[in-house]
Amino acid sequence: MTKGWIHSVESLGTQDGPGIRYVIFTQGCPLRCKYCHNPDTWCMTDGQEIEVEDLMDKILRCKSYIDKSNGGVTISGGEPTLQVEFLSELLRKCQEEGIHTAVDTSGYVDQDKFLDLMPNIDLVLLDIKHINDVEHQELTGVSNEKILNTLKLLEDNQKNFWVRHVVVPGINDSIKYIEELSDLLEEFNYLEKVELIAYHELGVHKWETIGLDYELADVEPPKEENMKKFRDIFLKKGINTVIK
Ligand code: SF4
Repeated sequence: MTKGWIHSVESLGTQDGPGIRYVIFTQGCPLRCKYCHNPDTWCMTDGQEIEVEDLMDKILRCKSYIDKSNGGVTISGGEPTLQVEFLSELLRKCQEEGIHTAVDTSGYVDQDKFLDLMPNIDLVLLDIKHINDVEHQELTGVSNEKILNTLKLLEDNQKNFWVRHVVVPGINDSIKYIEELSDLLEEFNYLEKVELIAYHELGVHKWETIGLDYELADVEPPKEENMKKFRDIFLKKGINTVIK
């Protein structure tokens, strides 16, 4: 009877992987991204504790429309790899039921842990925040070393993955930076898609509710024309890229 802490579920998700997804948002995150729109997931025990079996019952009730859309289950967060036993069992049971599995992760995870999980993951959604380590620490509070190691681990283990990158004006939206990011990603054969996500302020009220100071209050979302320019840089290098 393995239990895990979750924040919430979304039974008709269309933003986190292919098709219609049953999305599970887990509790707990070791990062503190300045633009986090789910700061209420940071503390592990703020959520609801649930057994894998109970969660599987809920997932299986949705299986018919998941199957029809070539969808699956996505486990997101917070950072799902913090609860490795729970995640491992949940992924294994989904695959036993013939359900496609995706894990949405910051990649901030020990390599041996991730290697153990990998056979039960069909698709990894890797959220890269910044490829410069100093800037990454400033933005998230942690080094990006583990994250870039995870990127390499995915390629070395021939695991299909998408990269998600939130474009934040003034932080990671220069043409030079986007060129560098696309140069880095160009080398990866198992990268299926890049999602460039325009920074937005939708989670700001949560910071206020929790009583936290939102440092990016003066940052505006990026202009659409700039997002298109960034997308085109990736497309020119043959990287399948979409704006979200
Ligand atoms: S990794 Fe995700 S959940 Fe964690 S702080 Fe960053 S944006 Fe928030």
